[in-house]
Amino acid sequence: MYASPVREAIRGLKAYVPGLSIAEIQEKYGLSQVIKLASNENPLGTPPLAQQALRDAAATAFRYPQGGNPRLVKALARRHGVSEARVVVGNGSDEILDLLIRLLLTPGRHSMVCFAPCFSIYPIQGQVCGVEVRRQPLRQDFSHDYAALAGLVDESTRLVFVTTPDNPSGYCPPRAEVEALAAHLAKTAPDCLLVVDEAYMDFVGDDDAAEAQYSLLAGGCLPDNVAVVRTFSKVWGLAGMRVGYAVLPEALAGYCWRARLPFSVNILAEEAALAALEDTVFHEETLRVTRLGRVQLRQGMEELGCTVWPSAANFLMFQLPGGKDAGACVDVLLRRGIIIRALKSYDLPQHLRVSVGTEEENAVFLAALGDFLQGKQA
Ligand code: PMP
Repeated sequence: MYASPVREAIRGLKAYVPGLSIAEIQEKYGLSQVIKLASNENPLGTPPLAQQALRDAAATAFRYPQGGNPRLVKALARRHGVSEARVVVGNGSDEILDLLIRLLLTPGRHSMVCFAPCFSIYPIQGQVCGVEVRRQPLRQDFSHDYAALAGLVDESTRLVFVTTPDNPSGYCPPRAEVEALAAHLAKTAPDCLLVVDEAYMDFVGDDDAAEAQYSLLAGGCLPDNVAVVRTFSKVWGLAGMRVGYAVLPEALAGYCWRARLPFSVNILAEEAALAALEDTVFHEETLRVTRLGRVQLRQGMEELGCTVWPSAANFLMFQLPGGKDAGACVDVLLRRGIIIRALKSYDLPQHLRVSVGTEEENAVFLAALGDFLQGKQA
């Protein structure tokens, strides 16, 4: 009998835990309507221009995409004011994060550094690649201690991951602090790349000017030991199409293209992403709804006695009052057709995360949470 003799590191691997899907909750509880506030997707759906592009491009699905996705690369380079040679697109930003680990770290020899907790794909893919993953605990208030993070870096370290705004807390460090970390690494660890994951950067602040204060991409002059990673899954409303991208040092971008599977951004995903970038109405409405919804959820949850952490993203991390059980809350909401995220897979068993939905979805969630806290199950 074949014994599936996978590598030691894979035997101990815990899979990434995604937010529960609408279909599985509908089926499990026999519900017709489900509100999903678990994976920080766009509450407005797929951008109308992207939907049209998908319909228009449907008949081209039998063709391979153009190698290197040059039209999308060009559009992104223009958007961020960087050279096309520095842009790489991938099958979600997950693919690019994984690619960077595989390209830069030799198993058994090199290490990577990230916070604990952090977006779980970094340590999981590190483990898949068989490299040492060093974790720095976040401060008590979920802010980032960069001196401590840099303290874990030595001559074996090839990658440091920072998420800004952070997942799952929503904390966003000032840009100057991240730049100072990059400068420190450039001096003390010249072979180490700082990966700044800006998946949620579009949502930072209360107006469009804020992004320039927080994003390392603002201004178009990135430190040369930094990669910024972004995604079409959030503000651009295309999580299911799987498109992400990075702005990288030019030579590294070239290696990414060589190592990336040739057609990982498929022909429909590329068309949808290009059209989404043109959909300024959808983009503005997404930001408006998210900023208002963030306030609505915070106020509502605080009125119910929850502890809500400050968030610059399209989700809020919170704890229930009076030590009420987070797992029980998730279960009760699920029965009512509302999916939020338990954070036990982030080693935060009493914390929860809720994505910002539409005004109506947020109100339904708040009412159900209020009922749970008062012991009403209906
Ligand atoms: N980075 C962070 C911080 C995320 O939260 C996510 C998605 N949850 C990703 C990257 C991955 O996004 P994508 O859908 O582009 O793979």
